[in-house]
Amino acid sequence: MVKTDFKDTLKLKLKEVFGYNSFRGDQEVIIKNILAGKNTFVIMPTGAGKSMCYQLPAVMQEGTAVVISPLIALMKNQVDQLRALGISAHFLNSTLSKTEAKKVKKELLEGTVKLLYVAPESLTKDDNIELLRQCNISFAAIDEAHCISEWGHDFRPEYRKIRTIITHLKEGIPIIALTATATPKVRNDIQKNLNMEDADIFLSSFYRENLFYEVLPKINPEKQLIKFINKHKGQSGIIYCLSRKKVEEIANLLKVNGVKALPYHAGMDSSIRMQNQDAFLNEDAAVIVATIAFGMGIDKPDVRFVVHYDAPKSLEGYYQETGRAGRDGLESYCLMFFSPKDITKLEKFNKDKPVTERDNARILLQEISYYANSSVCRPKQLLHYFGEYKNGGCNHCDNCLRPHEPFEAKDDVLLVLNSVKLTEERFGIEHIIDVVMGKNNEYVNSYDHHKLDVFGKGKSEDKAYWNTVIRQSMISGFVKKDRDNITILKLTEAGREFLQNPYSIKFTKDHDYENEDLQDIDDTGNGNSHAFDETLFELLKGIRKKIAKQKGLPPYVIFQEPSLEEMATTYPTNIEQISQINGVGIGKARKFGSEIVKVIKNYVEENDITPASDVIVKSAVDKSKTKIYIIQQIDRKIDLEDIADNKGISFDDLLDEIEHICYSGTKLNLDYYIEQIMDDEKIDELYDYFMEADTDRLEVALNELDEDISEDEIRLMRVKFLSELAM
Ligand SMILES: [Zn+2]
Repeated sequence: MVKTDFKDTLKLKLKEVFGYNSFRGDQEVIIKNILAGKNTFVIMPTGAGKSMCYQLPAVMQEGTAVVISPLIALMKNQVDQLRALGISAHFLNSTLSKTEAKKVKKELLEGTVKLLYVAPESLTKDDNIELLRQCNISFAAIDEAHCISEWGHDFRPEYRKIRTIITHLKEGIPIIALTATATPKVRNDIQKNLNMEDADIFLSSFYRENLFYEVLPKINPEKQLIKFINKHKGQSGIIYCLSRKKVEEIANLLKVNGVKALPYHAGMDSSIRMQNQDAFLNEDAAVIVATIAFGMGIDKPDVRFVVHYDAPKSLEGYYQETGRAGRDGLESYCLMFFSPKDITKLEKFNKDKPVTERDNARILLQEISYYANSSVCRPKQLLHYFGEYKNGGCNHCDNCLRPHEPFEAKDDVLLVLNSVKLTEERFGIEHIIDVVMGKNNEYVNSYDHHKLDVFGKGKSEDKAYWNTVIRQSMISGFVKKDRDNITILKLTEAGREFLQNPYSIKFTKDHDYENEDLQDIDDTGNGNSHAFDETLFELLKGIRKKIAKQKGLPPYVIFQEPSLEEMATTYPTNIEQISQINGVGIGKARKFGSEIVKVIKNYVEENDITPASDVIVKSAVDKSKTKIYIIQQIDRKIDLEDIADNKGISFDDLLDEIEHICYSGTKLNLDYYIEQIMDDEKIDELYDYFMEADTDRLEVALNELDEDISEDEIRLMRVKFLSELAM
C-alpha cells in the first residue's frame, strides 16, 4: 500500500509542479532511486528527459540540490524555466553581479533554494565551498558527466575535482551523474572518478527510430547541400561546419540560393549571435549554419535535419549533434558529408595538444573514418559504439536502404580471431592487419610474429579489406576493445566460441568512395558535352526565336545558349527556378520566362520526367564585396579607370567583373562612360551590329566590325546593349 501511495505522490507532484501527466522512459524508477538516497548513474540520450530526473526529487526533498553543469548559457535557461514554474532555483557562476550573488547566498542560507546550478569553476572557489558547507544539501547532480573523462569528446579538467569537493561539503551526499553520451570506456571512467562504482546504473537505449542516417562522399558539397535543402524546403535545420569561415561562407551561399539561413559561431558579436539564435528558434530563419558551439541547451523540437558539412570530431559529438533533430519524435534526417581530407585537417588541429590528448583525439577520428566508410547499418554502428547491441538493420539508413553485396566471411573471421589469440590479445587493429598480411616490419619481427602460423595468410587481400573484417567482427561481438587501453583488441566469449565452432557468417564490403560508381551522386554539373536533353534544347531554341521575333530582338538577348542547355538539364518549371539558371536574373526570368516555363512543363509531363532532378548552385560570389563595390561606383558615375585603380585591379579584370554582373542579371548603366570615350557614330554602329548579330560572341564581333573599334569598346557596348534590352 505504501508503494502505491508513493507512486501516486510522485505522479501528483509531476502534474502539480511540471504539468505532465506521465513519466517518460525510466524517469520514475530513477527518481525513486534518488529519493531513496542512493548514488545514481543516468545515461540517457539527448531529449529523453534527463533533467526531470533530478528536478523533481530536488523539489520533493528537504534542502538544496546542487546541480553541476559546464554550460553557463544553459544554466540561466533552466533556472528561468524552473522559476516560471514557481520553483526556487538559482545559479552561481561568473556572470552574476555582486548584488545578485549576495541575494543568492542569502536565500541559500535561509534554506529556501531547491536547486542551485553551479559551474565547476565556481564550485572550486573557497568562498563557495564555505557557503555550501553551511547549507543543507539534498544531493549533488553532475550533468554532462562525460566531461570528467579524458576519453570523452568534451574533457574538462575542473570536472576531475568535483568528487573531492563534494566529499568536503558533507559526508555521504548522494551523487547523481548524468550524461547523454558515454561509451563503455567513458562510463567506466566517470564511475571511477566520482568514486561511485556502487551506483545504480540506468541506461536508456540510444536508438532513435525517427532519425534517418546517411553519409555522402563530399564531392561537390555545395550542390549536394542545396539539393538536400531543396528537398526539405521550409523545414527547420542545423548545418554544422568546422570553421567560422566555412560557417559564413555556407550561410551566404544558402542566402544567395534563396534559403533563409543565418550564421552562428563564437567569433561573432554576441548580440548578433543571440539575435540569430532567436531568429532560428522563432522560425524567422529556417536554417542555422553553425560551428559545434551551437546547439548546447537548444531545445527546438521540430528540427527536421542536421547536416554535418564537415566531418565531426568524434562519434559522441556526432551522435549528440544529430540528436538535436526530431525531438518531437517525427521523422528527421541526419546527413554527413565525408571526405578523408577533413580527417587530415582535424588531425592538424590536434597537433598542439599534449600527447595523450592528441592520441585520444586521433582514435576518435579513426572511429569517424570507419563509421563513414562502413557498409554496416548506421544506427547499429552508433549503438555498438555506445555499448549497445542492436539485432538486424534499421531500414532507416543509407546502408540498409542501399545494401552492399554480402560475402562469406567465415574463414577470414577465423584468421583474424586466431591472430588476435596467437598474439596474446596484446595488440591493436594495425598490428593484426600487418600480421595477417605478412608485413615483415621490425615491429612484427621483434615479437617473432613473423613466425606465427597465421603470418601472411591473408596476403591476397588489401588493408581496407582486413579493416572491414576486423571492424565487422567487432560489431558482431567477436572482438572488443580493451577496457583500459582501447587500442588493444580482446576476444569476447562469442569470439572464443566461434574459434571452437566456426559457422557461416556474412559481412558486407565497405564503401570505396574513391572508386565507387558515383553516377547518382552528381558531378560538378558544368553541363559537359551533351549531358543535356537535346530534344528539349531544340524546342527551347525554337521558343527563343519566336520570342525574339515578337520583341524585335536578337535571340541571344533573350537567353544565352548555355542558359538553354542548363534548362534542358534541370527542367525548371516556374519563374523562380528559371531565375536560378546561370545567366538569368529574376528580371529576365519575369520578362521572357513565362513561355519557356509552359514549354518545359508540358515536355516534362509528356515525357514523365521528374523535374528539378538537378540543382544549379548560384555562386555566393555573385554578391562579393568587389561586385557590390563596382555596382555602387557605376551608379555614382565614377570613371571605370578610377574604379579599377581603387580596387587595385586591371581594366581588363574590371571588364570581366562588369560582364559577370551583367550576365548574372544585374542592369548596369554605363552611358556616362561610353559617351566619354566613343562618338555617337561608333555607338550607333555597335548598337546596330548587336541588333542584327546571331551571337554576341566577342571573336565574331571583332571579325565583322571595323578595325578602328577596339575590344574594350565592343565589350562595353555589349553590356549596355544587354542591360537595356535583356533585363
Ligand atoms: Zn540501418
